[in-house]
Formats: sequence, structure tokens, C-alpha cells
Amino acid sequence: MLSTMQDVPLTVTRILVHGALTHSKAQVITWTGDGEPERRTFYDVALRSIQLANALRDELGVEEDQVVGSLMWNNCEHLEAYLAVPSMGAVLHTLNLRLPADQLAWIINHAADRVILVNGSLLPLLAPLLPRLGSVEHVVVAGPGDRSVLDGCRANVHDYEELIEGRPARYPWPVTDERRAAALCYTSGTTGDPKGVAYSHRSIYLHSMQVNSVEAFGMSAKDTLLPVVPMFHANAWGTPHAAFMAGASMLMPDRFLHPAPLADMIEAVRPTLSAAVPTIWQGLLSELDAKPRDVSSLREVYIGGAACPPSLMRAFEERHGIRVVHAWGMTELSPLGSVAHPPAGLTAEEEWPYRESQGRFPASVEYRLTAPDGELVPWDGTSVGELEVRGPWIAAAYYGGAEGEPFRPEDKFTADGWLKTGDVGAITADGFLTLTDRAKDVIKSGGEWISSVELENHLMAHPHVAEAAVVAVPDEKWGERPLATVVLKDSVEVDYEELRAFLAERIAHWQLPERWALIEEVPKTSVGKFDKKVIRRRYADGELE
Ligand code: ADP
Repeated sequence: MLSTMQDVPLTVTRILVHGALTHSKAQVITWTGDGEPERRTFYDVALRSIQLANALRDELGVEEDQVVGSLMWNNCEHLEAYLAVPSMGAVLHTLNLRLPADQLAWIINHAADRVILVNGSLLPLLAPLLPRLGSVEHVVVAGPGDRSVLDGCRANVHDYEELIEGRPARYPWPVTDERRAAALCYTSGTTGDPKGVAYSHRSIYLHSMQVNSVEAFGMSAKDTLLPVVPMFHANAWGTPHAAFMAGASMLMPDRFLHPAPLADMIEAVRPTLSAAVPTIWQGLLSELDAKPRDVSSLREVYIGGAACPPSLMRAFEERHGIRVVHAWGMTELSPLGSVAHPPAGLTAEEEWPYRESQGRFPASVEYRLTAPDGELVPWDGTSVGELEVRGPWIAAAYYGGAEGEPFRPEDKFTADGWLKTGDVGAITADGFLTLTDRAKDVIKSGGEWISSVELENHLMAHPHVAEAAVVAVPDEKWGERPLATVVLKDSVEVDYEELRAFLAERIAHWQLPERWALIEEVPKTSVGKFDKKVIRRRYADGELE
């Protein structure tokens, strides 16, 4: 028997319309760096989105299914593009502005972007690439910046505000099939070439509902969200769509992503929630330690994208009263997977092991652990396997293989349709995931595995260590051994013996690194994660002896 229920498509258009009408007075506040942030109501943002859709169609000739790129910071205009482009049936391709130029050009060409929306401050990045971007016909510039760098370029150049001004306040929204692509995002290539994930209207809608559930970020109309995670990094973890759906105001940091302006804007605008990768929070912690600000408005901050060192979580809570919530996800998951909210009935101290884990999955994300021989690994909290997941906001393939067909590399998808995450860990009987490593980062020493993340977490708990990254390096006797690279806090001197002794109290003796290197800074990827590829290469080149 079929159900008797309505079959209404779940679309970004619905998020736009709902936010505009029901939460018309919620605000999008963009930090400008010179005192007065720019404020717009959801109603105005929605209106401008509709005008943008009209302009893209009528003036630039954008048709359904065509790709519009955005090379933008987290700001109001970027949010307008988030809402307008999918709602008009086109696809928004968020461009990672920290990718090396070649990769940026590669993904723009791969996705065949017809239009690029760009912040003026990013024109020096885009302009030299334009001659290589065959598909790009129009460049739309938003915000201040020297536009003369575009003189003589082949594409038509438009000013964002002039383009949308006076356009109609209505649009015949066309999307009726929720499975159509709404947004395109390439993985940041931490462990390989970028791969495109095409999110659907349905996946964005369902993911937004999950982001807003209390199991995840619990966002509501009472909140103001500060998304520090860039809008090009897995749709800022889906938070802008979710906030527009929930009526949560947004504080957009624009290009002011250094610790000092972040601390200033938190004090001035008083957001209640925020989200970013651990390296950003590490910087903010040092800033707040050095120059305290009133950050008491923050109810919770979400840390994910890489393992969050427990010492960082505790420091935020103990020194600044900020509760950190650890979450795991990946671009292919829109990106939310698990969130580490502890179970009920525990003391604050008893909660910590749960909070330090990668957390539990929602009903929509099925999970399993698989051993290298393909056998399922039991959820006993200690047996380790590769995490595989399945669900309605998880990629089933990547965008645009040969002949434009979706492609499913065997190392990423199982024959029975699960995504292989490349992450290795254990799951407890009550569903808490603890990741020990990325499969590619695990150190295979004499038949035993050493978790690089575990060593890093212990090292970063040392009072004089600012950052630590551990990688596998070849070893004649053991196959691989850990190399510990360490960044010390300002003007302290610590020798390896002391760090080794510190580790020796916390891990098994055979796991202790013999190789150490003091470095100025851990190299970071385009989304701010430790770039272990670079460390391994520097070691191979003899730079880290
Ligand atoms: P990239 O693969 O290019 O880094 P993603 O942002 O999609 O881009 O990265 C997803 C990966 O980040 C996960 O597969 C996992 O290895 C890592 N990751 C994300 N969140 C966490 C976390 N909380 N703990 C440990 N690793 C994490």
C-alpha cells in the first residue's frame, strides 16, 4: 500500500522562502573591519537573492543546470548566491580560494563554470587565471577591490550591486525535482586530487534539518551563528542553509579570519554558536589568553574537520567558559556525520571521554566498520576498522568522470553502495565513534598500528607545545616509524628528551618516536588542516633531519 501523504519536493527554494517570510527580521551581519558591520534582514537578503536570480537569467543568460562559481569570503552576497543560484535551477560551485592556482583553474574548468561571482579583494587571485578558464563568460564583482586587474580580460565584467539593482522581486522558481543538483563542492584534496560532490536540493534540505536538531548544533531563532569555516568548505558545514531555515541570525566574518578580529567581532556582535577547524580555534585560544575579550555569548562552538586535541577543548572551557563540541564529517557527507554530545546522567568529568570522541551518528547516517579482509568489525569500543557510511545526504558518486558521467572509484565506494571514508577507528556498543587516524596517516610499525592523532593529542597537551604533527616515515627495521614535528610556544626551550619522557608516561614504550624535528609552523592545507603530505615530503627531501 502506498502512503496517503503529500509528496512535496525538499528544495533550497523552500529554505529561501521560509526564511524570508517566517524569519524576516533575523539578520545577516557582515564584519567590515572598520567598526560598523553591515546588517541586512533575512527579508532583504531573500529579496536581493531573487533579484540576483533575475539578473543571472535575464542579463547573463544563465540557464537551468548551468554552473555559477563563487570565489567569495563568508559574507552576505555569498549567502545570496547560496539561495539564488540553486533556487533558479542552476548549480552553485563554491571555489576554495586557498587552492593552488593550478587546482583552482582545474576545478573551474572541470565544472565548466559559466559565471564567477567574486569578491573584489580576490580579483588578484582570479585575474591571472582567467585566460585559462575557457567556460567563464561573465565575472560579477562584489565589494571593494581594484577592478583594473580585469582590464582587457575576455569575460564580461559586472558590478554585483549594479547588476541586481531594480530587478523584479519575483521569480518563477522552477525546481520541482528534489534530486537535482543544487551545489557543487570539490574536496580540498588533503589526500589526493580534488573530487566534485554535487549536493542535491533534497540532501541540503535534510542535512539542514539535521544540523538544527539538538543532536547536532541545535540552532534556532534564538541563536546568532558565526560560521568561521569557509563557505567553500563543504558549504560552511551546511550551517548557512540551516541558519536560514531556523531563523538564526548570522555573523559573517568576511575576510577577517585572524584571531584578533575574530575575538573582536565575538565581543561586539555576541554570537551564540560558531564552527571552525581546530587550527582556527587554537589561534583564537592564544589570542584570548593574551588579550581577554568578553566571549560569554558563545553557547557552544563546534570543532571538526580534523581531530580536536582534548587539551584545546579543556582549555577553552576552563579558561574562557566556552563549551566545545567535537564533530566529524567530510565533504562527501554534506558534511555532517557524527557529533559528540555525551549521554545523560553523567558528571562533567565523566562526560569528557564521550566529548573527546568523534561522537554519535544521527538516524539518517548508517555506519559500519570494515576490516581489510572485508569482514565487519564489532562495535565493542576497541576493535578497529575503516568507517563506511550510507545515507540521504551522503555522496553516491563524484561529479563528472569520463564523458561527464558520475564516477565511483573503488577505493571510495563499496559494491553495495557505501562510502568508504578512509578513516579508521572503533565504535562503542552505544554508538560513539573514536577515530584513530586516516587510513593514509596511520603508522604501520612492525605489524602494529600507531595512531598519529593519539601522539599529537598527547604532545599538544604539553604546556610548552603549540602544535604537533606526527607522520609515518620509512624505517628499515619496522617498515614505518613515527616522526614527531613540534612547534614550541614563544620563547621556551624544551628538548626532545623532555617531550619523550612526557609521552612515555602516556603511551606504550614501543610507540615512542625516535625521530623529532622542531619546526616553525605545521604546514596547513587550503582548509586549515595539518598538511601531512608536505611534512612527509620535507622529511624525504632531508629537510627535517
Ligand atoms: P579533505 O579530505 O580534503 O581534507 P574534508 O574536509 O572532506 O576534505 O575532510 C574530511 C576528513 O577530515 C575526514 O575523512 C577525516 O579524515 C577528517 N576529519 C573530519 N572531522 C574530523 C574529526 N572530528 N576527527 C578526526 N578527523 C576528522
